[in-house]
Amino acid sequence: MREDLSALPVSTLRGVGAKIAEKLSKLGLNSLYDLLFHLPLRYEDRTCVVPVGSLVSGQKALVDVRVELTDVLFRGRRSMSCRVSDGSGFLTLRFFHFSASQRKGLERGQRLCCFGEVRAGSSGYEMIHPEYQQLDEEAVLPVEGALTPIYPLTEGLQQRSLRKLVGQALVKWNELEGDATDKSLPELIPQVVLDRENFSTLDESLKFLHSPPSDISIERFEAGRLPQQQRLVFEELIAHHLSLSRLRHLARLQNAPTLKPTNRLSALFVRRLSFSLTSAQQRVISEVSGNLASGRPMMRLVQGDVGSGKTVVAAMAALSALENGYQVALMAPTELLAEQHYQNFLNWFEPLGQRVVFLTGRQKGKARKEALEMIGNGQAGVVIGTHALFQESVEFSKLGLVIIDEQHRFGVHQRLALRDKGKKNGLQPHQLVMTATPIPRTLAMMSYADLDLSVIDELPPGRTPVVTSVVSSERRGEVVERIQGWVESGRQVYWVCTLIEESELLQCEAAEESEKMLKAALPGVRIALVHGRMKPDEKNSVMQLFKARKIDLLVATTVIEVGVDVPNAGLMVIENAERLGLSQLHQLRGRVGRGVGDSYCLLMYRAPLSETANYRLSILRRSADGFYIAEQDLKLRGPGEVLGTRQTGQLQFRIADLVRDEALLPAVVEAAELIQRDYPEQVQPLIQRWLGKAVNYGEV
Ligand code: ADP
Ligand code: MG
Repeated sequence: MREDLSALPVSTLRGVGAKIAEKLSKLGLNSLYDLLFHLPLRYEDRTCVVPVGSLVSGQKALVDVRVELTDVLFRGRRSMSCRVSDGSGFLTLRFFHFSASQRKGLERGQRLCCFGEVRAGSSGYEMIHPEYQQLDEEAVLPVEGALTPIYPLTEGLQQRSLRKLVGQALVKWNELEGDATDKSLPELIPQVVLDRENFSTLDESLKFLHSPPSDISIERFEAGRLPQQQRLVFEELIAHHLSLSRLRHLARLQNAPTLKPTNRLSALFVRRLSFSLTSAQQRVISEVSGNLASGRPMMRLVQGDVGSGKTVVAAMAALSALENGYQVALMAPTELLAEQHYQNFLNWFEPLGQRVVFLTGRQKGKARKEALEMIGNGQAGVVIGTHALFQESVEFSKLGLVIIDEQHRFGVHQRLALRDKGKKNGLQPHQLVMTATPIPRTLAMMSYADLDLSVIDELPPGRTPVVTSVVSSERRGEVVERIQGWVESGRQVYWVCTLIEESELLQCEAAEESEKMLKAALPGVRIALVHGRMKPDEKNSVMQLFKARKIDLLVATTVIEVGVDVPNAGLMVIENAERLGLSQLHQLRGRVGRGVGDSYCLLMYRAPLSETANYRLSILRRSADGFYIAEQDLKLRGPGEVLGTRQTGQLQFRIADLVRDEALLPAVVEAAELIQRDYPEQVQPLIQRWLGKAVNYGEV
């Protein structure tokens, strides 16, 4: 009888009871089939014993040693240090958590086998919390025959047990394969596609990754270019592409309000603007109107560098909805930015007789109740806010268009949830997504395949490029002097304090410090502070004062990163610029250079500057092209960081890496299209295999 690996639950394996099965299920591992596609994250080399004398820093190594001396230290934090040697050199094992029995087991003379990462410590090389095992004198060292795969885990599941389970699954698979009619693990990529590439087979690739042969070095694995790896990378990328195209396809089967432009409001709006639209803005506006009038839900991403004028494009789209009696929701990632949009839309739309309403999560009581009422009864034409707009309690009367600003902070699934929210009478609202983080083409191909793309590739006329320089914080005095002169000439300044990966609190404290220092150094200058822990009202009133030129120097944390628009501020100083990503710095810099006159950005760093940090900052000095900068950023930091989606779980691949595997992408797209056309029955199994339950199409 033929058996299917996906019909064999993990509970059929030795050692898997209800508890372990539940933990495995958390990782999406329910059957033996799932286990085989649970790919190692990386490998460790325990195939040979390394003499202590030849260890190098950063290396992960297996050593065979004897304890010389074990000590418990109380310097600051209690720790146990264990000096070991193998005759070729000394090494310190360091433990911050340890038990009394552990301590006892590390008596002088005890033989140990340890595996850990070597680093330089205060007294020579050390390993922190190595894995170790006590060995008898005559014991044979537990050296592995091949590299050890390291799998993604969940709490309460040991690496060693998972490895054993995968091993059992491989054995079972082998048995089934003996059967000539075996279909236990079907090949889902058509042969015609595989024939074009020089990959290994699926079977061979999986076996290779789970139990690597003994002659492959860890470096070759880490490079990720082995034909066995590339075979699976290829398939995974195809599956992602298929999944996104399906989302797109399903969404396009929905009906949406038909929003034909009447020009009733928009003509008036354009006439009242103090500038004329750039041709790039006009082009994108007409692309948007085409979608809005089509009766199918628009899903369009508008990319435009900072300052390219995306807000006006959003306003034009909003007017189409209003002209047709529909409501518009505009969502921004921060309160500050939402507030600024609110002010803009208020100025633009109230004279046209349209009601603009503001809604954030912090609004309480009467104000909130009133806002909700106007949204519910349709009086509010435009509703602006943060993601609070899409809470349960918010009911729109007739939502026709959702605009999301600075899209990279929201994931695909949030986008879908949003669309659901507004669905009424079988009509799906249109969606317009705007981002200033230019998305490199390769990324756009994989992660935004569900959206149409418009690019505003032109800045409004009269912008002067921002002169960017990189200065050491040791020259802070000169910088402060320069601010003095700048303010005397009637212009305003941003001073941005940065701290990443640390608490917002610390960031605010740093900003307060800087404010104090600047106030002391510049007594005649009007200085104010804005940071993330201030109440929205406070933040807002500081911003309004700055806009009204009642403040000369605004000290800020990175809250001003997105959207803030004060054309008279032409000088920006960024403290500790080396800590930020390029795209983020580019965004910040986009706050200046918005008015007439020269503008400057000083990237201040704390010496010494590492070589990569220096290189990164020099990219900003040389280029003002957001696309180029994003490409470089992507190369240096990887896609998760660039798109800010690391937390949202988007773009999580098991084996693919968009940067490393970029060259495969054209073939991936071609193969995905061929499968869709000629082998549609493979689409679902491929998506299921690689994305599992992560995608819920029911919600589209
Ligand atoms: P971003 O694309 O960064 O969101 P904004 O929409 O905030 O840019 O626009 C930046 C500034 O440029 C605003 O002050 C806006 O009024 C102005 N602006 C937009 N379009 C034009 C244009 N065609 N000509 C001149 N100024 C414009
Ligand atoms: Mg903007």
